[in-house]
Amino acid sequence: MKNLSERDQQHLWHPLTQHQTAAPRIGIVRAKDALIWDEAGNSYIDGIASWYTAMYGHCNEYITAAISEQMKKLDFVMFSGFTHEPAVKLSEELITILPDNQQKIFFNDNGSTAIEAAIKMAFQYHHNLEDKRDTLIAFEDGFHGDTFGAMSASGLSSYNGPFEDFLLKVERIPVPQDQTIDNVLRRLEVILEQNKCAAFVFEPIVQGAAGMKFHSAKGLDLLIKKCHENNIVTIADEVMTGFGKTGKNFASDYLEYKPEIICLSKALTAGMFPLSITSCSQKIYDVFLSKDVAKGFFHAHTFSAHPLGCVSALAGLKLLNSDAIIERRKYIENSHREFSAKFEKHPNIKEIRCLGVILAIDLAVETNRYGSFRDKLYDFYMSEGVNLRPLGNTIYVLPPYVITNEQLKKVYTVIEASLEIL
Ligand SMILES: *Cc1c(COP(=O)(O)O)cnc(C)c1O
Repeated sequence: MKNLSERDQQHLWHPLTQHQTAAPRIGIVRAKDALIWDEAGNSYIDGIASWYTAMYGHCNEYITAAISEQMKKLDFVMFSGFTHEPAVKLSEELITILPDNQQKIFFNDNGSTAIEAAIKMAFQYHHNLEDKRDTLIAFEDGFHGDTFGAMSASGLSSYNGPFEDFLLKVERIPVPQDQTIDNVLRRLEVILEQNKCAAFVFEPIVQGAAGMKFHSAKGLDLLIKKCHENNIVTIADEVMTGFGKTGKNFASDYLEYKPEIICLSKALTAGMFPLSITSCSQKIYDVFLSKDVAKGFFHAHTFSAHPLGCVSALAGLKLLNSDAIIERRKYIENSHREFSAKFEKHPNIKEIRCLGVILAIDLAVETNRYGSFRDKLYDFYMSEGVNLRPLGNTIYVLPPYVITNEQLKKVYTVIEASLEIL
């Protein structure tokens, strides 16, 4: 009998994979809390919470119980013409913790489609106001997903080559750092003069896929303010940053000027279920109200507001600000700070930074995003029993909140060992 890894190679086509040269996939059979097990019985600490989704740990029993209860009551029903308790309740709960201006919750099924819906809302917002606008503003090196609108907004170009001729019109600005705010603002002003800008799409405070890069909250505030003065719809992509990872519930909580639209996914359902949300302010929503049917938002996904996704999200929200999880979040944050202080002067480290439970280490080496150096690091961590996926020369840790002290220590230890093999 062939094992999973061998059977995989017959009929499967994996994401982000050059199958001619890639190593075979590792067959995973089980996961619990911060650990995953492969078919040979090896365990790995999930140092990035499976792309920062499983923040309350894998197979969290509180969440699986909620899903299991819901499955017996109402599995799924279409969300046009019908509504249900899990969706209503989730909208009520989210509105209480989202920034004050957020009033309406629109459901989608993944991060990219949350962004796609946001971009369409922004274009139609202006269309309904009979003010045709055709340009998006986005940060250099942002990442917003792989559907066409989201891909257009993404500045990380390594994947976009074959599609560039088919993308939306986008003008890019660098992220603001405290010393560059004036320059970036001026760039934005020039773009506003030369284009009819519909929306500004951004990952607030932390750019995830770019390598957990941080920027200035004050600078972002001024960009949002300028956009609001020009009636440009501001879209915060909190697919990565949402639900406590930056130390606050949402990265937008660091801002004084709140985005009109916020996109959520990934940890939204605690990694249990594909679901996403595009929330918006009353100001956006009201422009879609009319006696004219066509002014409504005609956009839907079959599995919008899936009840099982909604109940996992509700269970996740209960855990997010529970005493036990807050204690773990603080512990991870402090540990990251101690690690940073200890290693910031290491000769093989160019920069080390942390915010909330995010720790990022830029190594003092030049490398391609998917180069062999990065693969070597990845293989080393896996051989030591830790799942970390370096982004080019950036190693980052974004562990499940429930990671134990010993497991976290082991993650630091293997990173320390990898610094020596450089
Ligand atoms: C992962 C991610 C997306 C895309 O989400 P998918 O569910 O993979 O489509 C969009 N934006 C950010 C910031 C992300 O981290």
